[in-house]
Amino acid sequence: MLKRLVLASNNKGKIREFNALFGSRGIEVTAQGALGVVECEEPFGTFLENALAKARNAARQTGLPAMADDSGITAHALVTEPGVHSARYAGNHADDAANNVKLVAALKNVADKRASYTCVLVAVRTADDPDPVVAQASWAGEIIDSPRGTGGFGYDPHFYLPEFGKTAAELTAEEKNAVSHRGRAMVRMLEALKERWGW
Ligand code: IMP
Repeated sequence: MLKRLVLASNNKGKIREFNALFGSRGIEVTAQGALGVVECEEPFGTFLENALAKARNAARQTGLPAMADDSGITAHALVTEPGVHSARYAGNHADDAANNVKLVAALKNVADKRASYTCVLVAVRTADDPDPVVAQASWAGEIIDSPRGTGGFGYDPHFYLPEFGKTAAELTAEEKNAVSHRGRAMVRMLEALKERWGW
């Protein structure tokens, strides 16, 4: 049986990561853009709701089972921020550097530098699937003022992991995947698809 999932993302890095892991289980992951899917809004306040909206949108436009990923970083002291605004924290056209400058400034006079990345994956068989499969993982660290490392992306150079004595940007891709929010959520999703869909 061909097990095919549309991924509600056009991020090449993510497609590659998903295909590497899901391909080993015979699941083919196709980017929604390759199937002409028009992206939907992500207006909600939680990763879960935005991921569900994206998965339903991709399933509706393709008629295929679909999976979406929504992720971001939240600083403990800032309660909700950057949160679902992580990609555009410093404005709609902000780049990673501007987002990091804003986060470091927001925590400047704050003693509690804890932050966590969260990744929520949602898979639906059809657009109106009443029973979506959800897999989630978080990754705890601390925000440091000066960037370190050249790997990863986004907030990784400021995301310090005391247990490694390194930032996420100083880990190799393999090291990061083994412990990161996205890497662990992906493994959980694979287990859930096996249990729930018999994949
Ligand atoms: P999205 O899920 O692709 O929309 O990602 C949301 C944003 O969260 C990204 O643009 C990054 O700013 C941030 N983010 C999510 N995961 C990571 C990560 O593993 N490293 C660094 N930044 C991340």
